[in-house]
Amino acid sequence: MTGPRVRFAPSPTGFLHVGSARASLFNWLFARQTGGTFILRIEDTDAERNRPEWFGAITSAMTWLGLDYDEGPFLQSELLADHAASAEALFANGYLYACDCTREEIDERLKHHAKPGYDGYCRDRQVARSERTALRFRVPEGGVTVVPDLIRGDVTFPHDSYEDFIVVRSNGVVLYPLANAVDDRSMKITHIIRGEDLLPTTPKQVMMWEALNHCDGIEPVDHPHYAHLPLLVNDQRKKLSKRKDPVAVESYRDQGYLSDAMVNYLALLGWSPKGDVEIVGRDTMIAQFRLEDVSHSPALFDVKKLLHMNGEYLRMLTTEQFVEAAQPWVAPWGSEWRPTNYEAPWTERQFDPALFRQVAHLVQERVGTLGEIAAMVSFFFLDDVPYDEAAFDKTIRHDEVAKALLASAIETFGSVEWTAVVLHDATLALGTAFDLVLRKSQAPIRCAVTGTLVGPPLFESMELLGRDEVIRRLRAAVARAGE
Ligand code: GLU
Repeated sequence: MTGPRVRFAPSPTGFLHVGSARASLFNWLFARQTGGTFILRIEDTDAERNRPEWFGAITSAMTWLGLDYDEGPFLQSELLADHAASAEALFANGYLYACDCTREEIDERLKHHAKPGYDGYCRDRQVARSERTALRFRVPEGGVTVVPDLIRGDVTFPHDSYEDFIVVRSNGVVLYPLANAVDDRSMKITHIIRGEDLLPTTPKQVMMWEALNHCDGIEPVDHPHYAHLPLLVNDQRKKLSKRKDPVAVESYRDQGYLSDAMVNYLALLGWSPKGDVEIVGRDTMIAQFRLEDVSHSPALFDVKKLLHMNGEYLRMLTTEQFVEAAQPWVAPWGSEWRPTNYEAPWTERQFDPALFRQVAHLVQERVGTLGEIAAMVSFFFLDDVPYDEAAFDKTIRHDEVAKALLASAIETFGSVEWTAVVLHDATLALGTAFDLVLRKSQAPIRCAVTGTLVGPPLFESMELLGRDEVIRRLRAAVARAGE
């Protein structure tokens, strides 16, 4: 296939960061829009921080988001021979030199230097290679490296701000700037789309690429285009923190965000669709996406906005789709995928799928996530009403009028026609008899029947619960208030 070749190259840290998910999405959108190829490469060579087995978290989050790749996953740890061969070529061509300085020696010398970083001590010493020598890159003296960036324009890095950086450690491990460039070359990557946090390392890769192009026996490869996506910041305008901000894509899935909503929201982090709309499907994103339109100013990762958008997506579902999407939270025992560490508030025996189907539309209008459904409808399935004690005290236990009203309600509800409309009118009439507006007459009934003061529409819920159950609950509440 001709056309652009892009890659998503995460390091497996155990979860998919929302910033990485956004980078993955933008690569995917670019590939799909240009008829290019989207490659997944797992950069798992940092033995201290990465574990190859953690890459399953990345692929399953990508599958959930619908970001399918055309090639890979390639594990960088299986490409070590290529990295080593390129390092040898760079050494043979004089781009790398051996260095036997210890950290202590360097620090000692630096005390007398104005400029921080390695001082080039071994540059011309012709140190013989051994298991104690690292290989450093000979950063060109003077001049600049320019990173042509499709989002930011040319970004210029003066060489004197770079020390002769280590490319191969003394233990033989080839480091990120070379490994990354070698793999991008061999995978024929044409566009490198990734987060702005990596921009400071980009000149090193450009230098590696350039040096490899001038090594004997190595085929020159055109430099790729770069596009560094804007930083994601929290509401304090600080870079998202792994520890303080909710950054794991998996946790949004666990909470009951829809994949479509998540993808739509991620797309808005640095890009915007045409016109005055924010809710756009994947096809529209693919049709409209242009790297050149991506902004370079930091993008606010706003969980409230994401929640709001998810609610809108939930309301766009048909009731059938909503019921289906809710299964992992309402009937986890039957679901192929389940939220991590989650238990439904009811047992399989207590849950009634047919009743849930009837109840679903009542909560579809009210929830922001699928994970909020269970608490809102648990009173339908639990024999013991889950009372909110504060609400019970306020609206029933310490309110004599309310207790009298509940007693009358038990009478009235015993014989009225059992529909939401009639129950509404009957409650209104009861209220009038006690000199209460509907909101007030409804409160003790709601608390007795559902346990709380918030939730799905009361009269529809009562209709679905049935006369016997509602009257049983009203009686139980009156008895409880008298205890
Ligand atoms: N593996 C690097 C990381 O996850 C990024 C590589 C890249 O996109 O060039 O930070």
